[in-house]
Formats: sequence, C-alpha cells, structure tokens
Amino acid sequence: MPEWSADIADRVRALNNVPVEDKNSAYVLCWLPQTLRAWDNPAIDAAVELGNRIGRPVLVYLGVREDYPYASDRLHHFLLHASRDMQQGCGERGLRCVNFVDRAGRREKGLVYRLAEQAAAVITDDHPVFVARRQARAFADRCNRAVFAVDTARLVPTRMLPDGLTTTPAFRRASGELRPTYESHAADFDSDLPVYDDDLCFDGEGLAEASDDDIAGIIAGCDIDHSLPLCADFPPNRATALARLDDFVTDHLASYPYRRNNAADEAGVSNLSPYLHFGVIGPRTITAAVRTAEVTANAKWKYLDGLLTWREYFHYLAYQTPHPDRFDVIPQAAQTTLLAHADDPRPVLHSLDDLVHGRTEDETWNAAQRQWLHTGYMHNNLRMYWGKQIIKWTRDPQTAWRTACYLNDRLALDGRDPATYGNMQWVFGASKKAYREQPIYGWVPPKSDRAIRKRAGATEWLAAWATRDKVRVDVPTGLPHDLLTSE
Ligand SMILES: Cc1cc2nc3c(=O)[nH]c(=O)nc-3n(C[C@H](O)[C@H](O)[C@H](O)COP(=O)(O)OP(=O)(O)OC[C@H]3O[C@@H](n4cnc5c(N)ncnc54)[C@H](O)[C@@H]3O)c2cc1C
Repeated sequence: MPEWSADIADRVRALNNVPVEDKNSAYVLCWLPQTLRAWDNPAIDAAVELGNRIGRPVLVYLGVREDYPYASDRLHHFLLHASRDMQQGCGERGLRCVNFVDRAGRREKGLVYRLAEQAAAVITDDHPVFVARRQARAFADRCNRAVFAVDTARLVPTRMLPDGLTTTPAFRRASGELRPTYESHAADFDSDLPVYDDDLCFDGEGLAEASDDDIAGIIAGCDIDHSLPLCADFPPNRATALARLDDFVTDHLASYPYRRNNAADEAGVSNLSPYLHFGVIGPRTITAAVRTAEVTANAKWKYLDGLLTWREYFHYLAYQTPHPDRFDVIPQAAQTTLLAHADDPRPVLHSLDDLVHGRTEDETWNAAQRQWLHTGYMHNNLRMYWGKQIIKWTRDPQTAWRTACYLNDRLALDGRDPATYGNMQWVFGASKKAYREQPIYGWVPPKSDRAIRKRAGATEWLAAWATRDKVRVDVPTGLPHDLLTSE
C-alpha cells in the first residue's frame, strides 16, 4: 500500500495485493464508473497524489456498456452528459479524461483491462450496490495491477465507522463525531505532470467537444431501452447541481423543516438526489454550503440529518450484507409476519404494466408513480406511501419487494442506490411495529395518504398528474431476477 496523505488515506482501501508498478507504466488509471465529477473527487485526488509521487500523469476513464440492468435512454443520457461535463472539468484541471460507449458497429471487450496494462495502479470508486460493487471486486481479482477503491460518495468514509451500528441514533453519534475532520480535508490536488497525450488502445468519444445532438446520436446506436423518456427537469451537469444547491440554500433551506413534506411544493426540498447518485456533486460540497447558510441551526440540522445520517447509514448497511437488494435483508420479524400473511386475499392484483404506467384505483399512488415515469424523480413524502401500497397489490411479499425495487431502479434517476434498498427495508417493516395485526401486512404498519392529501396545493397537484399526457413505455412480461449485486 503506498503512503497516502492524511486528506486521502482514510478513504482508500486496497482491493488486491499487487504492488504499484512504478517502472513499466505510463499513467495512473482513474476508472470512475459512478463518480461523475472532476472537482471535489477524492478518487481523482488519490490518483493525482500517487501520480505525483511516482512521476506518472493521471488518465481518467469511464466506459459505458449496454448491458447494465435497466440501461435506457434515460440513464444513458444522464451518464453521457455528466461524462461530457467531467471530461471538460478534467481538461481544466490539466488531466486527460477518455470515454468509450459501446454501440452498434463500435463495441470493445475488456477496455479497462487493456488500459490497466499500461497503468502503475488503478484507482476506482467504492460502491456497495448495483453493478459497481461486483465489477470492482471481479476486476481487482483478475487485474495484475494494484487496484484501490476510494470512498467518494460519503462525507465520512464508511470504513472509518465502527462495526455494529444497528440504529440511526447510534450511527448519528458515531458519524457526527467524525464529520468535522472530513469537512476540513483538502481537495482538488494539482498534478505536477504534463497531460498524458500518447495514443491509447482505442479511439475515445471526444465527449468534451460533442454537441447534444452528437450525444443523442450515440445513444440512438446503443442496444438499450429506448422507450423511457429523458428527464428534462434534471440537466445532467455540475453547474446545474451547484446552482440548485445555491438557490436552495439561499432561498429555501430556512423553511425546509416545515415545507419538506409537501409534494406539491417543488422548491421545498433540494432535488439533489439524482446528482448525488451519479456523483455529479458530493456530500462534502453540499455540507459546506449548508454550514455557511444564514438559517436556523434547526433547518441545517434537519437537512444534514437526511444527507449525512440517513443517506450514509444506508450506505453503511449496504456494506454489511452481500445482497442489499434482496428480500432477505428485511429484518427477520418483518419477513416472518409478511410471509405468514402471504396467502391472504389481496383486494386487487395489478399487472406490472398498470403499475409502471400508474393505472390503479388510487389517485395518490398514480400521481406518485407518474411523477417517476415522467420526471425520473419522486418526492420524498410520497415514497413511503407508494411502497406500502405495492405490498397489497402483488401476490406475495417477495413479489412486492421485487416489484418495488424494479420500479424504483428502472424509473428513478436516483435508483440503484444504497438509499433505494435501505428505504425499501423501512417500507417492508424495518421501522416500528403496527399497533395491531392486519391482513396482508401482519405487524408491518400500512400507510394512509391522508397526510399527503391535506397539504396546501395537494388537490391541484393530484389533479394535474391525473390529466397529464400519458407516456407509454415497454414493460417486460416478468420481473427481472437478482440483477444487481450478486457476487
Ligand atoms: C420507498 C423509498 C424509496 C427511496 N428510494 C431512494 C432512491 O432510490 N435513491 C435515493 O437517493 N433516495 C431514495 N429515497 C430517500 C428519499 O426519498 C430521497 O433521497 C429524497 O426524496 C430525494 O429528494 P431530495 O434530494 O429533494 O431530498 P431532500 O429532502 O432535499 O434531502 C437531501 C438529501 O438527503 C438525503 N436523504 C434525505 N432523506 C433520505 C432518506 N430517507 N434516505 C436516504 N437519503 C436521504 C438524500 O441524499 C437527499 O438528496 C427513498 C425513500 C423511500 C421511502
């Protein structure tokens, strides 16, 4: 393990035992499948630091494949636009960044392995769910170069927290003590070396110079789901994320504690989760902006508790289990009671097609689902209700779990995330017990939409979603099985 500076060391873990190749190598490869930002990116900083020490420039790389679960125009669009932005940002930092996008007539196998052959070491980002988790592990096992994973997604590096934090209060305390240290760490290290400009084993996409039409053309050539509409409300670039953060902190953070639960009030929440999920912005940048805001301590606390306690707790939990996306992560007592009621008659069984398109008898649920379908985002206060309803509309609790994960992961920009499966556990009974046992739910508390419907503007908001243009997307005949984190 190389020596890392104090600003980086806690974030880095070695994924194999191969030493750094400081002689026969051309660059330090920084492979970033998920952290799509050039700035405030500890993986890039680790690569720069190592490169400076051994005299090698940094090469940043992201390859986009067609075969990741739920690959669609919606997700590819976000990925490629954010990658363009990252490539431009790396250029400003004096670092070379290259991309490759698999598509008809232009497919490459094992590019990252081929790039690694010339590398002194490979630095990648550290994620506990979805393809990133098994991909990094499999790569490190097969690669004959040193591979390091860097914690880019969390303010407090998860590995610095003690084992056995089983409640949010315990996590809040442990993480809270460490936050000031990681908030004070330096970022955006300067490279001492000229930009790496030798030929590579492939022709990159040149995304930094690509127009929106060029990117649309690339996506059209990919063998992915083309039926899912793009998310116009979430332009995939860092400037938008930073502008939203600034606007939210300046004008809306003060009222966050009492506006955050109204789905009709779009500005009441920060709308940053898609940007966080794809790493376009990181928690350190957001925390710094919130800390300096001129608002009450309570408003800051409430917001940072979502960002630094709930979000980072779900990341922590995901590392504790090999398959965070499976039904059996639900606490045993909740599984037992749900399974004891698996044969209870359901009021109605909705087809996957009706669920995807938000066509049920429940106006609130339909509005929530259509918000996801159209915009790629669903307001926080709708999500718990949305998930609970699926339990009674599917034939058994395992099908309910897989259906809810499928809808969340396929449609939401922020899906396929530790927060997806962590919150889903809450839906399926990780929270408190109901005050009485009920059909279908057993001791898992169901949820009413009363509180959602009585908020200011809710009636108009629901009516608007009920009459909105219908989007029609492709729906598979069955639910995909175990797509994600199987190792
Ligand atoms: C059933 C269900 C599914 C969910 N699926 C996802 C998901 O796939 N991806 C996702 O990022 N969040 C998920 N959440 C959590 C939460 O709903 C979203 O993070 C939030 O709505 C994002 O909107 P925002 O950025 O405007 O949030 P804000 O209210 O502005 O909060 C700021 C940030 O704090 C974090 N945060 C707040 N609440 C939570 C929470 N309960 N859990 C984790 N992080 C939180 C998020 O990163 C969020 O972006 C889910 C919640 C439920 C109940």
